Amino acid sequence: MIEQLIADRAGAIDASGIRRIFNLASTLKNPINLSIGQPDFPVPQPIRDAAAAAIQDHKNGYTLTQGDPVLLGKVIDWLKLDLGWDCAVTGQGQANQPTAFVTSGTSGGLFLAFMALLNPGDECIVPDPYFVAYPHLATMCGAKAVPCDTYPDFQMTAERVEPLITEKTKFVLLNTPSNPSGVVLSSEEGAKLRALCKERGVLLISDEIYDEFVFSESLNDVAKGDPGLKRCPSPARIDGADEDTLLIRGFGKTYGCTGWRLGYVAGPAAIVDQMSKLQQYTFVCAPAPLQTGVAESFDTDMSAFVDEYESRRDMVIERLSKVTNVGTPGGAFYAFIEIPESLGMTGTEFAERCIEHELLVIPGGAFSERDTHFRISFATNRAILEKGLDVLCKLLGGEG
Ligand code: PMP
Repeated sequence: MIEQLIADRAGAIDASGIRRIFNLASTLKNPINLSIGQPDFPVPQPIRDAAAAAIQDHKNGYTLTQGDPVLLGKVIDWLKLDLGWDCAVTGQGQANQPTAFVTSGTSGGLFLAFMALLNPGDECIVPDPYFVAYPHLATMCGAKAVPCDTYPDFQMTAERVEPLITEKTKFVLLNTPSNPSGVVLSSEEGAKLRALCKERGVLLISDEIYDEFVFSESLNDVAKGDPGLKRCPSPARIDGADEDTLLIRGFGKTYGCTGWRLGYVAGPAAIVDQMSKLQQYTFVCAPAPLQTGVAESFDTDMSAFVDEYESRRDMVIERLSKVTNVGTPGGAFYAFIEIPESLGMTGTEFAERCIEHELLVIPGGAFSERDTHFRISFATNRAILEKGLDVLCKLLGGEG
């Protein structure tokens, strides 16, 4: 039997729950789709132009594994301005200098981090609810992702993480702003979490893929090199964090180019240099002409889009808070919404009920050990969002 050839790491991954919802959804012709995890605006023109020009100029071969020197240079300059980090190109750092390189998406950076850090039997601590890939990445390494229950406010605090650390723990994975909740961890809580990790000798990994999608009340930190530049709080901005924090960021969400597969990592050379060695024999490099494209992103102002998402966020909260408990997302473009107990439904049952009303949402069980919530994305136009909210208000209010 051909199935007997499959390795345990693939067999151990169960994607059946979410697949069932997508199978049901595929029966709908024109659904109200609030399930999509990518921006609904076009890639800014200068970024597209630069990528198209790079293709025409025959920049279609491999780049160095660490990335196109122009893009990587801009990343390194940005890390200095934003975090005060003095990064070198991976493999070229002085003693104790952090290093950086360009990855194939944020997922590429995460995959390499898990591969570089986890032996079979090891543990890592991830938030619950989590980005869907986290537990599976640990499984692929024969390791275990230990979920840190962050309900009901979705803050991954040191207090919640501390009891989960064992001698098998290699790292704590923070995601701020979070998918699926949009919650931003405050500077104070980030500092406590980083101090805990340092004290216990585990690495802190900060997945900041939504770091540019942050709403006004959560933009309460400033860039290290420019006090006039408001930024999302990050534990990587704490003095000395470059010695014990691995930063993972991406371009896809911020500039609407998720299909381009681009991100970057930075942190202690001992770890980042191992990751880049693994990149050399897996991804090889990130897509070459597209690296030239996103090199333009550093001069592109996305604030009008972020403002638009903030106003959609306000619309979601205004309407749904009348029918259920919904925390206010400080960033990203998701809301993670509780199903009122009075409805007596799991997230999966509720998502199925939504499908009966032509609406697509993702059940909380896809992101969590529990199935009490559901996720909507407001990265869709206002007319669709309004329609979706009409259905949700009705169903959450006990009608339909
Ligand atoms: N981390 C989080 C928290 C995400 O939500 C996503 C994508 N939805 C990723 C990583 C992966 O992003 P990329 O497309 O850059 O691989």
